[in-house]
Amino acid sequence: MENFEYLAGSTRPPFTLAEIIIFLTVIYLFMGPGGNWQILLAVLLLIYWFALMAGKLWPPPKFDFPKTPLIRKSSSPNTPTKANFIWSPEYKVGFWWYFPPVKKYVLIHHRAIEERILTEDDFIKPTPLRDQDLALVHGRAYLWRLYLLSITPLCFLNGENPISFKILKKLKVVCGGTYLACKIALEQQMGMNLGGGFHHAFACHEEGFCHLNDMSIAIRKLQTERLINRAMIIDCDLHQGNGTASIFESDETVFTFSIHQDDLYPYPKQYSNCDISLLRNQRVDDKRYLEELKILPTLIQEHRPDLIIYLAGADPFQYDRLGGFLLTKQGLKDRDAYVLRVCAEVDIPTAIVLGGGYAPNIDDIVEIHLNTIRVVHKLLKADV
Ligand SMILES: [Zn+2]
Repeated sequence: MENFEYLAGSTRPPFTLAEIIIFLTVIYLFMGPGGNWQILLAVLLLIYWFALMAGKLWPPPKFDFPKTPLIRKSSSPNTPTKANFIWSPEYKVGFWWYFPPVKKYVLIHHRAIEERILTEDDFIKPTPLRDQDLALVHGRAYLWRLYLLSITPLCFLNGENPISFKILKKLKVVCGGTYLACKIALEQQMGMNLGGGFHHAFACHEEGFCHLNDMSIAIRKLQTERLINRAMIIDCDLHQGNGTASIFESDETVFTFSIHQDDLYPYPKQYSNCDISLLRNQRVDDKRYLEELKILPTLIQEHRPDLIIYLAGADPFQYDRLGGFLLTKQGLKDRDAYVLRVCAEVDIPTAIVLGGGYAPNIDDIVEIHLNTIRVVHKLLKADV
């Protein structure tokens, strides 16, 4: 029974439309008048259905925390990589009708160059993570589920999380981007992935436009490689980082912080180590939001992480279609500057990932993300 315990905390009904359709088809085929071919088809579909369900019901093995000591950085300066920003043209891969605006990933890169915030030399392309890296967080059965969905037409009916083979490939690249941002941060204090932030992905199921939890995978991989022991996630997306909170729920090495709108998806919330839950009717503006963040230095001091991942969500923006916060573009920029300055002051390597952003005008979303880039770039320059 304990294998199914995590489903109690699930924020989704246990079946997607795709699974219901397959199940009903199987019953129809078994009960129908048909001959052998119908029985054969029903059996094949039933196996497929079980494989999909097993992905969500079969929990991943418990993470075995390595006992070997950390690999300390040598005192001799490494040849620094010039690039601190991670991006790949593959980030734009998505269904044309998909609600989250994947086009923004092209525009961010394009405008960062066009407006001379960055040059091409500032960028580095990530390589995709391998399945064994993803399996540090996600169950093998769940990864199979994603593959099975991605190669059949049912990929379109997977709730708000459609997936194709190309998208799955892209997601591995984005996860590689977040991992690379962390690696660069460990070497040079800061690294930024112009993507990622899939904080709604659970160990065994997808939700909220998130299939693979890039931040959790990066942390687990770095722990396995003995580059870090402790980590912290500062999640400033409008929505609670429920997947991340669930993955690290009983893990003292990873501290999860989330500031979010309470009367909004996900329902129910998971427990982060520190949740700041604000309501729409509290009129959360720039001042109020920044005031709430003043708890961060104390939390960092108490947890003492070797690495921080900062999720700079663009959806607390006042014109966001999904949310009810009232932050301005300048307010969001001040938020980025505050969080990153706090991290820099205590000298803790920080990786930045993007998140959210559903304003009707895509230029607003792009501008908010560009502001994050500006803040990171400025801090990096000040560090030289
Ligand atoms: Zn969000």
